[in-house]
Amino acid sequence: MTLNVIDGLSRIGEENAFTVLARAQALAAGGMDVINLGIGQPDFTTPEHIVEAAVKALRDGAHGYTDARGIVELREGVCGDIERRLGVEVSPDNIMIVPGGKVTMYLAIMMFGRPGVEIMYPDPGFPIYRSMIEFTGATPVPIPIREENGFAFDAAETLNLVNAKTALMILNSPANPCGGVTPKCEIDALVAGMGAHPDVAILSDEIYGQMTYDGAVHVSLLSYPEIRERLIVLDGWSKTYAMTGWRMGYAVWPDGLVDHVRKLAINAWSCVNAPAQWAGLAALTGPQDCVAEMVAEFDKRRGVVVDGLNAIEGISCARPKGAFYAFPNIVETGFKAKVLASNLLEETGVATIGGPDFGTLGEGYIRLSYANSVENIERALSRIDGFLQR
Ligand code: PLP
Repeated sequence: MTLNVIDGLSRIGEENAFTVLARAQALAAGGMDVINLGIGQPDFTTPEHIVEAAVKALRDGAHGYTDARGIVELREGVCGDIERRLGVEVSPDNIMIVPGGKVTMYLAIMMFGRPGVEIMYPDPGFPIYRSMIEFTGATPVPIPIREENGFAFDAAETLNLVNAKTALMILNSPANPCGGVTPKCEIDALVAGMGAHPDVAILSDEIYGQMTYDGAVHVSLLSYPEIRERLIVLDGWSKTYAMTGWRMGYAVWPDGLVDHVRKLAINAWSCVNAPAQWAGLAALTGPQDCVAEMVAEFDKRRGVVVDGLNAIEGISCARPKGAFYAFPNIVETGFKAKVLASNLLEETGVATIGGPDFGTLGEGYIRLSYANSVENIERALSRIDGFLQR
C-alpha cells in the first residue's frame, strides 16, 4: 500500500529537546539520577490566581466555543498589556489568541512558504522555524547569530541576505537558544534598511520579551509604525507566566493578514480552550509580581550557571542577557557538541542540547536551560566538570 501524502512530510523536522526529554525520562525510570537542563520550560507552577481564574470560569459555565479570534475581553486584555509594557497602541481586531506561541510561527510560515521563495530565520535559532520552512518547500536562509555580536543579528549582514525572492524574515529576541538580546541600534538599522524591501513580511518572536537581565532592554518591533502593516508579533503566556502546558499564545497580525488567520482558526481549532482564555486574562490583568519574582530567580541561577561553566576547563560562557538559556562555547573541550551532550546525558545524567540542533552555526556550543533549582544546577556543573576531567 502507498499512502499518497505530500512531499513536505519527508522534510519536516522536530524539536530535539523533546527527544532528549524522552531519553532523560527513560534513564530516570531506569533508576538514574537525571538533572534536566534540556527542556525550555519554567520549573515553576502557574501562579495561584491564574489557576483560580480557570477554575472559576469552569464553574461559571465557560464550556462552549468562543469567538475564533479569542474572547474579546482577552483580546482587549492583550492590548492593555502591550500598551502598559511597550507604550504601543494595538486594536483587539488585530489580536489572534492561539493554542500556544508555536502556532503563530506555524501559521505565518505556512502563509508565506512555497517553492521558489526564501524565508530568513536565525541560526542558531528555534528549530521549528527551519523545519516548517522546509515543510513548505521554501528555501531556508539562515541569519547568522554569532557570539562575537553578543548573540544578536548584525543588521547590515542580515539586510544583505534580502533579495527579490525573500517573502518572510523571522527574528527572535530575547533569543532561544543563545540568550541574546538584540540591541536597539541593530533593530533601528534593520528596520531602516527594510524600507527598501516593502514586500517582505516580518515575524518577530518576542515570547521571552519580559525575561531580560543586566539592564538589557527588550525592543519590540511593534515600536516601529513604518513596518506595522507587514509585521506579525508572536507572544504568549508559556514562559512569562509558567503556562507551557495550558497551550496559550497570541499574536498581533497586520490588517491585511488577520482575517486569513481567523479563517484558518475556524478550519483548524475553532477557538482556544475557553477556561484557559479566562486564565490568560487573569494573568495579564492581575498582579505582575509573579513575573518579576520568577525573572529575579532566573537571574540568580544565571549567575550560578555562567560562573560555574566558566570555572570548568575547556568551557567559556558568555553572560546571556535574556530568556533562560546559557549557550557555552565548548570548542576547547575537543568534543563535537552533540557527542558531548549525548555523553553528558548517558554517563552523568545531565540533560543538555547540542548546539547543532539549533542550526549549523550551533556547532561548538551546547544549550543549558537554567529553569532548574540552584542546587540541581550546581550538581550538574560538578558532574560536567568531573566528566571533562576524566
Ligand atoms: N518561540 C520560541 C523562541 C520558543 O523558545 C518557544 C518555546 O520553547 C516558542 C516560541 C513556543 O512557545 P509555546 O510553548 O507557547 O508554543
